[in-house]
Amino acid sequence: MNAFPSHTAAARGLATCAVCGKVQDHRVGHCQRCHAKLHLRTPRSIQRTLALTFAATVLYIPANVLPIMTVGGLGGEEPSTIFSGVVLFWQMHAYPVAIIIFTASVVIPILKIMAILRLCWAATRPCNPRAATRIYRLTEIVGRWSMIDVFVVAILVAVVQLGSLMTIRPGPAAVAFGGVVVLTMIAAMSFDPRLIWDRAHVTQSTPNSDADSYS
Ligand SMILES: [Zn+2]
Repeated sequence: MNAFPSHTAAARGLATCAVCGKVQDHRVGHCQRCHAKLHLRTPRSIQRTLALTFAATVLYIPANVLPIMTVGGLGGEEPSTIFSGVVLFWQMHAYPVAIIIFTASVVIPILKIMAILRLCWAATRPCNPRAATRIYRLTEIVGRWSMIDVFVVAILVAVVQLGSLMTIRPGPAAVAFGGVVVLTMIAAMSFDPRLIWDRAHVTQSTPNSDADSYS
């Protein structure tokens, strides 16, 4: 495997365990500490990441078009999409809930999909590796908060059961939205950030110290 520049750990046969982070000889096959499979670079990382991201993008459409919950009350049942739910909560003066749902359900998924596509682009084209790594870390942090909307719907369904006065039931978009969240999370995990630095070495735009932090 001499495809890697001589000063990288990969050129010396060393790989980072994707699970526990231990750097070791990849020829042993499995991590000596946690037994996860070792790879110098995750096989078909970009293809897998792109496939999952496109699947998430397709699911994003029914997640926003179909009703995510049905609010029942004295005036009958009213199905609401994510966006109409935001408007409904705003009109009910539940501003924090409206803002959280709008941010978590509309803004974050789009930003996350764009960030993942940007990373795939960065791994195949000359780019600023530091900026791309910052995007990768941001994607990881944001990923933890993507499920907030599903939690909000789950909590509302469980809590708002006021008999004939008001009930909230989940709609089909909740499943699609859950799919978007899970697929983007797996897509972000499938991406191998070391590819960004491989490309940086090819373009010879980074000092050696940057390479040493990525094995
Ligand atoms: Zn390990």
